[in-house]
Amino acid sequence: MDYTKILNEISEELSNFNNPGKVASYIPELSKVDPSKFGVHLYCTSGTHHAFGDTQERFSIQSISKVFSLSIVMRLLGDDLWKRMDVEPSGNAYNSLFQLERENGIPRNPFINSGALVLADILVSEFDHPKDKLLNFVRNISGVPSIDFDEKVAQSEKHHGHRNAALANLMKSFGNIKNDISTLLDVYFYQCSIAMNCEELAKAFMVYANEGKILNNDEEILNPMKVQRINALMQTCGFYDEAGEFAFRVGLPGKSGVGGGIVAIHPEKYSVAVWSPKLNERGNSLLGMETLERLTTKTGLSIF
Ligand code: GLU
Repeated sequence: MDYTKILNEISEELSNFNNPGKVASYIPELSKVDPSKFGVHLYCTSGTHHAFGDTQERFSIQSISKVFSLSIVMRLLGDDLWKRMDVEPSGNAYNSLFQLERENGIPRNPFINSGALVLADILVSEFDHPKDKLLNFVRNISGVPSIDFDEKVAQSEKHHGHRNAALANLMKSFGNIKNDISTLLDVYFYQCSIAMNCEELAKAFMVYANEGKILNNDEEILNPMKVQRINALMQTCGFYDEAGEFAFRVGLPGKSGVGGGIVAIHPEKYSVAVWSPKLNERGNSLLGMETLERLTTKTGLSIF
């Protein structure tokens, strides 16, 4: 497969794309990003990589980080985790409160905010330094020790995170949060603020394309069954209330974030990260989805 040629074609086709999307502004620090940024990085299990555009500039990975916290927690816990959250698509906004109340404080899945807050609660229970644990995990699987939190984004989110605080409090009232709420919110906000570029994200997600192993050194991060489950969750729940649309148009497991990043994987073939900050009305990168749809159409490869 000539991925370089395919990416060049996509870059050409989309060079004059009229993008009606909007940069996320509910976290003020995110609204400062240059909306015209656009980059794609594709990493193959064969070790080659292919890219175009702004692939070396770091951005806020936001909800993409939920895949990392889920991975750490799944390494620790067995099926007990699923007593505290479900594995169903929510069909609702990622920060919705009413479904959580109706379902007695049990989040629909780990990739909506309530699910990620329960994961943060577990990290606080299990580790003395949960934020370091998260950062070290990401640094290890990507092979990039300089990856870090973005302090300004974390602080901005902390000052505007009232809805996340509401979700955590609601779950605490149902007994599904064990720790002090401000402690787990702090972990969650820093987790969302992790800054990575497309190349680093594609490398990190290689674990999910490569049967749970780091490509360069074969270290097993997750056993094959856990990887399959995480990929199934990315497929069904990775795109807010647009997971069906993403499966329909793109057909790959993946995860997006309101920073405009999307990472997707084709098991045993490649991982691909795309960044374009303008979001559609469901919170997914508009140009990012368009790019990945063209990629899977042009390669003709499908997981289905
Ligand atoms: N930190 C964001 C929030 O909780 C994550 C949003 C996202 O990327 O989905 O609001």
